[in-house]
Amino acid sequence: MPDVPEGAVSLPLVFDAPRGRAKPPRHLADLDEPGRKALLEEMGLPGFRAKQLSHHYFGRLADDPSEMTDLPAGRRDELVAALLPDLMTPLRTLEADRGTTRKTLWRLFDGALVESVLMRYPDRVTICVSSQAGCGMACPFCATGQGGLQRNMSTAEIVEQVVAGARSLARDEVPGGRGRVSNVVFMGMGEPLANYRAVIGAVRRLTDPSPAGLGMSARGITVSTVGLVPRIKQLTDEGIPVTLALSLHAPDDELRNELVPINTRFSVDETVAAAWNYAKVTKRRVSIEYAMMRGINDQAWRADLLAEVLNGYGDWGWVHVNLIPLNPTPGSKWTASDPADEREFVRRLEAHGIPTTVRDTRGREIDGACGQLAATET
Ligand code: SAH
Repeated sequence: MPDVPEGAVSLPLVFDAPRGRAKPPRHLADLDEPGRKALLEEMGLPGFRAKQLSHHYFGRLADDPSEMTDLPAGRRDELVAALLPDLMTPLRTLEADRGTTRKTLWRLFDGALVESVLMRYPDRVTICVSSQAGCGMACPFCATGQGGLQRNMSTAEIVEQVVAGARSLARDEVPGGRGRVSNVVFMGMGEPLANYRAVIGAVRRLTDPSPAGLGMSARGITVSTVGLVPRIKQLTDEGIPVTLALSLHAPDDELRNELVPINTRFSVDETVAAAWNYAKVTKRRVSIEYAMMRGINDQAWRADLLAEVLNGYGDWGWVHVNLIPLNPTPGSKWTASDPADEREFVRRLEAHGIPTTVRDTRGREIDGACGQLAATET
């Protein structure tokens, strides 16, 4: 049995962040198009201006009110204050891979810190976004999990991370020429399904046709979860074909209870069943995330057991496994698997008919890789 620090595995008691704190500024990205119009009208401002503001934000990716010349100068400040308030300030950007991996540390209105990572590949640009400041899921190998949950992010705070990345690509600030964001993964800080409403709102803004939203394809969006079973069911019924990633990390309850403490509430069986049902209903292949930890979860017999668990739901291609080489976090005693063990793990999964990939480890040297986002300002 792995030796896990005791305090780190205590089960989070609530999914949701504490209530009653000051809320992030309201922003047009929080609202759908009718909501934006209604809000302006409520404030005694002309509703039709909402569309112009949306065009500036989502269509032109503008952030300077003085460029919004179709808004009457006398009312511009009022309109911008109503729907385009500043949401976050970049404190620091770190680059790796010759500038094609960029991690940004953001300060939110209340001082909370979150991070996002832009990764440019030859054929796509992926932005990894945070959905909560901190995280309440307490997975002991994850840097964010060590600090606990501070608060949920608003829809607009989530969306702004993508818009900021889109802006830097449109302005030719990322090596490789002008470009667009093709993929968004909810794999930054936080548990997206514990901030369900805001995350669904963000997915809708990303996929709403321009200029109501960014006009992205839902297929380019991945929501990653520890496995909050009731919320997976809710997502299944939502009718948005995003890709679901399930952070399994162990095929047996005994080990998963320690690595992903919420497993003591929702077992491996229940969790995998919910993921399978998601694939069945949405026809989207589910991704099983499995961080390879040396001597903890990387034994050959666990590869066989993982395949058995997944194949229990049929071999119609509903699932693939994405192995993530563990990024050791400060103070963590765990390390990445031996390459030979990793190869054997892959070989066994594939021999059982499970398509398997090994995740690249972009941004490691800037602590921008999976599970390393801890948002410390040093
Ligand atoms: N709360 C969501 C998103 C978290 S981050 C979830 O758990 O799915 C995305 C992935 O990175 C998850 O699979 C998470 O388990 C994994 N991860 C966390 N810490 C890691 C680390 N130190 N090394 C490798 N992967 C890690």
